[in-house]
Amino acid sequence: MVDKEKVEQAVRLLLEGIGEDVKREGLAETPERIAKMYCEICGGMDDDAGEYLKKTFEVTDSGIVVEKDIFFYSLCEHHMLPFFGKVHIAYIPNGRVAGLSKLARTVEVYARRLQLQERMTAQIADALMEHLAPLGVMVMVEAEHMCMTMRGIKKPGSRTSTIAVRGVFDSDRGLQGQVFQMIRE
Ligand code: ZN
Repeated sequence: MVDKEKVEQAVRLLLEGIGEDVKREGLAETPERIAKMYCEICGGMDDDAGEYLKKTFEVTDSGIVVEKDIFFYSLCEHHMLPFFGKVHIAYIPNGRVAGLSKLARTVEVYARRLQLQERMTAQIADALMEHLAPLGVMVMVEAEHMCMTMRGIKKPGSRTSTIAVRGVFDSDRGLQGQVFQMIRE
């Protein structure tokens, strides 16, 4: 749960720290505004993927299910700057599938908090394994990190890719290749 009062105090200190006049008109409501914003962009901490994934539908004989290009915004925990991009999810159901919007909800749960791209990728895969109990899961994330593009090495447009494989995808290069192809289509 975001403690708005603490965030407001911290933003005031931060503004003073960078040499700003916290009393000037344009900044008067900034601490409050940022506190509210954090409730939204870090709201995933109070959310539970299990809530979204508990409603499933029965399927018989399903192949690979792919949901690609799920857009997300997150915050890197090293700089508290945004990183954003796309998540692709593939899984092989073991009799149960989740509603497609629920996969996007699951991404939101882990994106809306301070994150590392690698950890977010793994957490999405693990949540799907835990709650859908599929034969296997593969999650890929492609993202641009503002901490790399607006500061530091400044490489606009450069993207970082991460992948997490679980279950039958873990050792089967052929299955992994099939997913790569489905995502590129
Ligand atoms: Zn960073």
